[in-house]
Amino acid sequence: MKKIVVSLFILLIMCGCSKDYKFSKLGYSDEEIAAINTLSEENRDLFLKGYNETLINLVTNKQFKEENLDEYLKFRNDFNDEYLFYLVNENIVNDENFEKILIISKDPYFILEKTSEYLEFYGKYMNLRTLVEAVNSLSCYEQYSKEIAADTSKNYLVLVNKFYTLDKNYEPDDLVEVDKKYTKYSLKLRKECYEAYIRMYEDGLEEGLDLSINSAYRNWQLQYDSYNRFLTIDPQNVVDTYSARPGHSEHQTGLAIDIISEGSNFDTFQYTDEAKWMADNCDKYGFIIRYTDEKKDVTLYKGEAWQVRYVGDEATKIKESGLTFDEYYAYYLEK
Ligand SMILES: [Zn+2]
Repeated sequence: MKKIVVSLFILLIMCGCSKDYKFSKLGYSDEEIAAINTLSEENRDLFLKGYNETLINLVTNKQFKEENLDEYLKFRNDFNDEYLFYLVNENIVNDENFEKILIISKDPYFILEKTSEYLEFYGKYMNLRTLVEAVNSLSCYEQYSKEIAADTSKNYLVLVNKFYTLDKNYEPDDLVEVDKKYTKYSLKLRKECYEAYIRMYEDGLEEGLDLSINSAYRNWQLQYDSYNRFLTIDPQNVVDTYSARPGHSEHQTGLAIDIISEGSNFDTFQYTDEAKWMADNCDKYGFIIRYTDEKKDVTLYKGEAWQVRYVGDEATKIKESGLTFDEYYAYYLEK
């Protein structure tokens, strides 16, 4: 009796392991067999026909979901693993749109997680670059239609625009007074930004240029007052092209400076030697020209030759990318 029980037991183990034994003989590793064994009987049998590299690569991927197996197989030749698993698992790719996705993903600043948005706005822009640029910068949306908290932990690289907003109470804790040598007004800037400005100013002076700070840090209330004062002069759609609504001004970061030169104003500064020199050289001091006419549909502001934004060491890379800071942030800094 004891013998029979032991034999039955051994037989049972052998039956249970027989498939594992076959997988092993076909060349699957223990780890791969463990992954195969999480599948349904039907899908497990797919592996019995021989060593299937494609299938086993799918099944052993951390993002694999068995219910999506057919979809993975359908699109596996079109996309790399990262794209394939994201697009299938998020239910984005299908027979109608996979070719569009292939086209869009060729843009150098394609962001996988924005695929649905690229598809939503597909055909509404002149070309692929302007489509991806608009989605990355959020300028595809109505201005102020999204309120995203600005990430101040990014420090000098914080993004503030018509979608990224600063809290009413946000005030940098390292503001310093701007010396009257550099401005006619009573102004403050973040310390590192101010020191960088002084270096730029001194070098400009040596070139015979005369830079003068017109505006620097503005708190929420000051921006509120300023924006509302403009509303008494121009209709809102016009004001929005040159003034930020409170909470949305880069000046509240203490990293934005409006600079003009003696004898010029905001209309004429762009034609001065100072403006040209600043555009060519400000990145050496950690600044970028934040708004240009060329990119006004992306920044959602008219060009401002006078406004520089301190970003620190990354300034030259941002300048050379040719991207707006809004898009640069989405592609390089946000994640
Ligand atoms: Zn400004």
